[in-house]
Amino acid sequence: MKKLASAKPAALTCPQCGARTISTSGNDTFCNFCEQYVNAGEGAEILFASVHAGIKAGDWEGSTKKVEQLLKTNTEPRLLYLSAVFYDYFSDIRYNDRNYNLQGFMEANAENIGKGVELASLSKNCFYKALKLTDTIIKGNSILDPNIFLIKFLSEMRLGMAVDAMRTLSRIKFNFSQSPITRYANLVYGVETNSKEAEALLSDSITRGQMNAFYYLAKYLAKRDQIDEAYVLLQKFNKMVESPIARELTIQVISARNASEA
Ligand SMILES: [Zn+2]
Repeated sequence: MKKLASAKPAALTCPQCGARTISTSGNDTFCNFCEQYVNAGEGAEILFASVHAGIKAGDWEGSTKKVEQLLKTNTEPRLLYLSAVFYDYFSDIRYNDRNYNLQGFMEANAENIGKGVELASLSKNCFYKALKLTDTIIKGNSILDPNIFLIKFLSEMRLGMAVDAMRTLSRIKFNFSQSPITRYANLVYGVETNSKEAEALLSDSITRGQMNAFYYLAKYLAKRDQIDEAYVLLQKFNKMVESPIARELTIQVISARNASEA
């Protein structure tokens, strides 16, 4: 936590999804919003600029429609992955913004929940499509692109396909042993699957100035029922960056705290 307080962050725009993201130091910069490698060069930033503008203005409906339109003309894995991330984010907002004070007006809540579920299924669908495309690209190319492997790996993790993700991780380690993508995928897998190395991986990534490692540390703490520590860390993290995955975890941590107080 001290490390997070002493981090010297610099804001930059993710060349992939167009989100404002925080970099601390070194080359290990992965977007706080979409988790793509930020030094990967040209991306879809401009395509998603209008989606972000909508998010900033609180126009969720309009932003969702813009993602829908982007998907009509683009079928590359990165775009499908990013659309999945956006749909997941919108789903979470819709689902959690249901209002318990509505009482007699539960129709509005039912609509929010229904829309949340619908968006979550659109998100899953996009992750599956991204996966299919990455598989085709990997099979058909002798030159391997680590960014394509990262999209495949993260899509498998988001879909809960841990066995497939483990296989992809082995291929990432084998093909790109020195890449920051290998370190990042290792960290994600280690924390999500409670591996013995999780703590060492977290400490290494935090030392390297990997901002998202603080989110994974919060997740690690929450998985070990250290809810208050996870909560404090997330509060700090959320103040610095906008991260859909951290938002989701924060909601879970708050409800765990409320449940223990009740
Ligand atoms: Zn991004």
